Amino acid sequence: MFIPLLRSFQSSRRLFYKKDYYSILGISRSASESEIKKAYFSLAKKYHPDVNKNPDAKEKFAEINLAYETLGELEKRRAYDSTGMTADEQDQAKNSGFNPSSNFNPFTNFTASEFNFKDIFNEFDSFFTGHEDHETINFKGDDIFLVLEISFIEAVKGTQKNIKFERKSLCSTCNGTKIKPGTNPIKCSSCGGKGHIQMQMGPILMQTICNKCKGKGSIFKTHCISCRGIGMENKDCDEVVNIPPGIDNGQSLRMVKKGHNASGMQGDLLVKIVIAQHPIFHREGQDIHSDVFITIPQAALGAFLEVETIHGKTKVNVEPGMNSGDQKRIPGFGIQYLPPNQNKRGDHVITFKIKVPKKLTDEQKKLYEQLAQIEYNNISDHNPNKFKTFYK
Ligand SMILES: [Zn+2]
Ligand SMILES: [Zn+2]
Repeated sequence: MFIPLLRSFQSSRRLFYKKDYYSILGISRSASESEIKKAYFSLAKKYHPDVNKNPDAKEKFAEINLAYETLGELEKRRAYDSTGMTADEQDQAKNSGFNPSSNFNPFTNFTASEFNFKDIFNEFDSFFTGHEDHETINFKGDDIFLVLEISFIEAVKGTQKNIKFERKSLCSTCNGTKIKPGTNPIKCSSCGGKGHIQMQMGPILMQTICNKCKGKGSIFKTHCISCRGIGMENKDCDEVVNIPPGIDNGQSLRMVKKGHNASGMQGDLLVKIVIAQHPIFHREGQDIHSDVFITIPQAALGAFLEVETIHGKTKVNVEPGMNSGDQKRIPGFGIQYLPPNQNKRGDHVITFKIKVPKKLTDEQKKLYEQLAQIEYNNISDHNPNKFKTFYK
């Protein structure tokens, strides 16, 4: 990637020989060494082909580098000032016996095998594009997931539950700074407190953000003892969960900003509701279902019964001739709808089950036999053997 670019510098350098290098860098003839360096660096930054997409930028960048190659080296600058010879011309003269300066020439001396261009340019890029310091980004804390079991009646009627759990929070000793309170930062040894590191690579001055201190120039050496430098700790906490009437098994309640804490936003707390089974009721949508056992005479004659609902006991009329499996609906005795229909309720649905006695008293047996005789007499197309099989 860098090699073709290097070649283009070399092929185009001859075009700039007769240009005034001071005007290329936009400096006066009396500019100091640091002014030359500063001017070069600011122009290199502006015309770097990775940053400047203008088609002329590449040539301009090469031109700037050639100017700096000559003016950046004190001996070559002196030779240029007195003879007008560029660094290249000085080198050629030197090779032919004339020696105006040292053998400084980064482009011809460096080869790809000696020099890791890719790494250098990645570093260079990071300087131009700005270094991302992840430590300063605010993260949202993780969500906390809890399972809460409640009773069937609590679910249909709604309830409040106090729950206890552990939450990751900012360390109460260092308040998340990870540093032992009362200690001061020390100057970063890697960059000497500048926050960046400069490297002179031939004519190119590389500047990268210091990895050790992430550009801050200082580091804290003494970690907070309480959190061992993590900045977070687990804290016992409790919250009141408001469970609305009519919540269904497996539904989750989201409590915003009640989850784990982080350097920025707090996560959410998600409470999954598990509803315990009820011995007589079960839910189908907004309706409550239950079985009601009736005797044979109640089934045949009808009855006025008291039945259990989630809203308490209520009386129902059992019409004569009720069969096992027949259902009766008690309107409005079911589960409250969720808002905005909280004024509406489902129904209570009774399924009748006829309870046949396992044992009969002598009197009951006598009465059932009489009943059987009557039923037998009423059957016109009867088979006496069949009757005998049933009642001996
Ligand atoms: Zn701490
Ligand atoms: Zn540093």
